[in-house]
Amino acid sequence: MRLYRYKCKKQKIKGFHKKSIWPSIVLFFMYLVFCFLLVMSFISVFGVYIISSKMDELSDNARHLGRLIEGRMQEEDILDAVSYVSGYLRKENDICVTDGDFHVLLHLGETELPNFHEAGEMRIYEDFSDDEKYSIIPNMEDQVLNSESAFIISIDELWELTMKAPPGKGPEAEEKWLNEIIYSLDYWKEIPVNSQGYHVYYKDSLKLMRKDVIYILAVGAIAVIVLMVPVILLFINVLSSIAMQKRMIKLLYLDTITGGKNWVYFVQRCKTILCRIRNARNTYAMINLHMDRYQDYCACYGNKAGEELLENINGFLQAKTGREETFARFAKADFGLLLKCEGTKQCEQRMKKMLAELTGINRERRLNYHVGIYMIPPVTNQKDSGLQQRRQIDVDQIYHYATAAGENLHGEEGQFIQVFDHQILEEQLWKRKVEDTMEPALLNKEFQIYLQPKYSPLSGKIVGAEALVRWISPTEGLIAPGRFIPIFEENGFITRLDDYMISAVAKLQSEWKLQGKKSIPVSVNVSRANFTKPDLAQHICHLVDGYGADHAVIELEVTESAFFGDKDMLQKIIKELKMYGFHISMDDFGAGYSSLNSLKDLPIDVLKLDMEFFRSKGDETERRGEIVVRETIQLAKNLNMKIVAEGIERREQVDFLAEQGCDMIQGFYYAKPMPVSEFNERVERES
Ligand code: C2E
Ligand code: MG
Ligand code: MG
Repeated sequence: MRLYRYKCKKQKIKGFHKKSIWPSIVLFFMYLVFCFLLVMSFISVFGVYIISSKMDELSDNARHLGRLIEGRMQEEDILDAVSYVSGYLRKENDICVTDGDFHVLLHLGETELPNFHEAGEMRIYEDFSDDEKYSIIPNMEDQVLNSESAFIISIDELWELTMKAPPGKGPEAEEKWLNEIIYSLDYWKEIPVNSQGYHVYYKDSLKLMRKDVIYILAVGAIAVIVLMVPVILLFINVLSSIAMQKRMIKLLYLDTITGGKNWVYFVQRCKTILCRIRNARNTYAMINLHMDRYQDYCACYGNKAGEELLENINGFLQAKTGREETFARFAKADFGLLLKCEGTKQCEQRMKKMLAELTGINRERRLNYHVGIYMIPPVTNQKDSGLQQRRQIDVDQIYHYATAAGENLHGEEGQFIQVFDHQILEEQLWKRKVEDTMEPALLNKEFQIYLQPKYSPLSGKIVGAEALVRWISPTEGLIAPGRFIPIFEENGFITRLDDYMISAVAKLQSEWKLQGKKSIPVSVNVSRANFTKPDLAQHICHLVDGYGADHAVIELEVTESAFFGDKDMLQKIIKELKMYGFHISMDDFGAGYSSLNSLKDLPIDVLKLDMEFFRSKGDETERRGEIVVRETIQLAKNLNMKIVAEGIERREQVDFLAEQGCDMIQGFYYAKPMPVSEFNERVERES
């Protein structure tokens, strides 16, 4: 048969870190710097443009004066022409003529003359050093420069001067305010005159009016406004993506039932904690905390109450876990915890205390918990392999180990904490293997019937047998019932096996009958799991009748523990089975569940004394044991029951039992359980 495998591609959620927001934040700040630079360059370009246009205007003035002087020079010499032209100049404009060697020939005005021998164009210094000053100076040698002639102004001063006098009311006042000169820089400029051997200079001033500064500022403001829109949008975008991420992270790691962190978070957090170098020397414990019968709790009090309870447990665990520890709900009422412990003992004590407090959470409704612990040892060799080993820890896997340890406690009274060891894992693996192979094993007839004879101690003859199952596995060989019966009892498969064994015994009896052999009563074990079926008697009857076997030669062994279930049902079934002619025996009588009361109520034919009675534990107990056996045999006889002693291995035990009137003996003294063919041979040989 071809098996189709439907494999769903696992969509793994990758780590969702806050770090991913950083590129946007960095980008945002980079953009901010870029905008600032852009605004500053707008301002300076526009400022330079205004100043250079003013300087162009001044150069035009110089050229114009040059033309005027040249016009006059056709009639007069250069000095007269300059004197004439100076009459058109304003009061603050000085004029001066030098010869080719820069010796002053004429100076009209009051200002001290500079050294012109290196005269040149105007130039602008922009000095952004410490004091943030602008200097607009004539392009002359530094030594010629006189500091007062430099145009020096700080940004603060400029701002103050620009805004100092607020405009009066009305457009005229405003116009006046705008045209007010806030800085004026005097400088000397050579007038271009076509006259060999002469230089003509005139003094003019570069005037900075308030409106110029306001224009520059306005350009800056417009640039800021234009650029601020995307800045604001970007800022809003960054903020909203931070908020969105926070929400996403919260949702991604949220356990909607408890309101705490979920398993995805737990696994990631465990890895982080365990792999931290500062935690390497710490012993950790992975813990499975399981609340028993949570489903029953929900069924009784409703799902809402169940969820509230889980929320409370979550709150409790939050209060009980430290900084380098974590916890989360795994599923239903199972919580995983990663706790820092000094060792196994301390961990157990801590959990014991926690359990005591947890049970008190809900006083009216008593709840039981159990705990499985998997210890994670400290890293001894931090440098290489040790930390590497911790990095390789599979959190889910070790949590399942802890769970396996916890599950191992099932049914152990008063025990709530179990530390994982590898035997538990082996048991789990074995259990899994048994569960995976039991169905095909039944179909392949790997379960075989073995018979252990029961002897009469008086005659020394075979008077009965017990059918015991053996699993002959092709891979494992012969497997004793002790290794699989408890697993079948747990998973319910035991009823199928019992049916199989009852049928096998019935088949054997009918074969013996057909072969004309003397029929030997054979007992077969019926697990207590069967006694929940109200029609069990009819069912067994149906199985046996299928082979046409006599009911009287089949004895059904019921373990003593079954007598603690539903008494009425058990009584009803046993009575029906008796009615159908089967014999009933109480197996393992005295094994710990003894209920003498059951002997009174139930029509049992045979009492099988548990082999523990015959395990010698010193003289005194043996003597007391003999008394109990003697009295039990007497009790059984008084109640008209036959008595079988199990587990008899020694001659003196046989003698003692024969003396006490025990009806049958089953034990290694006579024979071990054997295959049917061997049993047949033995019967023939002994008869
Ligand atoms: P049980 O029904 O009490 O069977 C008696 C067990 O005692 C058998 O173990 C038998 O081999 C063992 N025994 C008999 N005489 C001696 C002795 O002298 N010394 C020692 N040490 N042991 C002795 P076995 O076959 O391993 O079966 C163990 C248990 O498994 C049975 O106890 C029974 O409870 C269960 N079992 C076996 N077969 C079946 C079955 O087909 N159905 C069910 N439900 N349970 C079965
Ligand atoms: Mg038995
Ligand atoms: Mg027994």
